[in-house]
Amino acid sequence: MSTFEQLGLSSETLQAIYKLGFEEPTPIQEKAIPLALAGADVIGQAPTGTGKTAAFGLPIIEGASTNQEHIQGLVVVPTRELAIQVAEELNKIGEYKRVHTLPIYGGQDMMRQIKLLKKRPQIVVGTPGRLMDHMRRRTIRLQNISIVVLDEADEMLNMGFVDDIQYILGDMPAERQTLLFSASITKAVESIAKQFMQEPTMIQATPRNITVPSTEQHYIEVPERKKFDILCNLLDLHSPEAAIIFGRTKKRVDELNQALSRRGYSTGAIHGDLNQSQRNAVMSQFRSGSIDILVATDVAARGLDIEGVSHVYNYDIPQDPESYIHRIGRTGRAGRKGVAFTFITHRELDHLRIIENLTKRKIIRHPMPTLTDALAGQQQVTIERVLKTVEESALSAYRGMAESLLEHHDSVTLLAATLKLLTKEPSTTPVQITEDNYVLPRAKKERTPGPQRTPRRPRRSHNKSQNKSHNKPRHKSHD
Ligand code: AMP
Repeated sequence: MSTFEQLGLSSETLQAIYKLGFEEPTPIQEKAIPLALAGADVIGQAPTGTGKTAAFGLPIIEGASTNQEHIQGLVVVPTRELAIQVAEELNKIGEYKRVHTLPIYGGQDMMRQIKLLKKRPQIVVGTPGRLMDHMRRRTIRLQNISIVVLDEADEMLNMGFVDDIQYILGDMPAERQTLLFSASITKAVESIAKQFMQEPTMIQATPRNITVPSTEQHYIEVPERKKFDILCNLLDLHSPEAAIIFGRTKKRVDELNQALSRRGYSTGAIHGDLNQSQRNAVMSQFRSGSIDILVATDVAARGLDIEGVSHVYNYDIPQDPESYIHRIGRTGRAGRKGVAFTFITHRELDHLRIIENLTKRKIIRHPMPTLTDALAGQQQVTIERVLKTVEESALSAYRGMAESLLEHHDSVTLLAATLKLLTKEPSTTPVQITEDNYVLPRAKKERTPGPQRTPRRPRRSHNKSQNKSHNKPRHKSHD
């Protein structure tokens, strides 16, 4: 497994990665980044959730120069929410290099977009329809593009954007670099790759052979902004003896740890920024049971001997099947099966299916637990504690008190009040968790302007051999 430092990234970009809290490259990043930095065309089979955005975003940012006045990188995406999301991530990655990325998409005011384009962003992320609109108005020029990315290519082609993609790619310098990312490599995707890419290298995040543990696996589809409350409801419902919650980044793990303790859970966090003695301290608390929830990144958990937990919660879906197997393998104790719950956002369903296919295990859909479920879970814990005390404890010192209370109150009211006092009722204390890729409600398919509105320019020939014969040797913009 390589580190980000080994991938050949600049110190400014590495600084941005540290700020984002990424600990190590995901498999798709590990494979794509060196190839893309070397100037190769790359086809990456990677759905949302695998870290694909940074896999193409890091090389684009590395290749961009703030000394040049024109757009150097273009990312074509199917929907406006993805345009916003990708631009947001690219702006974070480009923060220290001062590389600016602008999202442009249908539905946003055209004049405002034109004004923003005049500020000379180095990178544009756009939806096909709106990109073509700007091309026709000549408010965007692609003549100096050195790298283009087709993101979620299968999705774009399913949405009927094939002509638009051909139009856009046809208007670019032939000696550019092309990257294509897609959850599935369909015939239509292959055909676009054949037309517009030069000897592309195909990569995917394939796992090594690992035995899949017999953990009971569930997933809950939950919007990003609801994840934390749903996690608390689950914890209240399950009252796990010993649980690990996995978060994607160091920042995420710290925030979750703080937010959980604000809501009254006994938790500790481990991630790569802690030194050995800090980690040892948290681990010994977890092993001794003085904390029953450990919040961890993959990297921190990988280096530790923490087996035998009752519950694993994947607050974020792991970026590769191998990490998934590793995480869920932490459960199971003394012959009992462990339970794993994975949160996924709607967009990550494809990624979940790939994990399911590779592990050959069904991951069962579970409804979002409500506050009522959470309360019922905690009440059950109280009942069990009370009944255990009835069976096991000497109560004579309390009998007299009970009898005198019963002279003035009815037994049900007294018992209800006692149960309430003993129950940890679900907390709704406000907490701060940074939303990861907040996705707007799904946008409708962008309308491609009809021919009567804006007649198409005759398409350039995209014949690959023809391109080649006109091409100078490929310009490697990342040397
Ligand atoms: P994507 O597949 O690009 O939608 O990325 C899914 C999520 O993973 C995003 O929230 C990214 O910010 C996050 N991410 C990307 N790369 C890494 C990494 N190397 N380590 C941790 N999180 C990452």
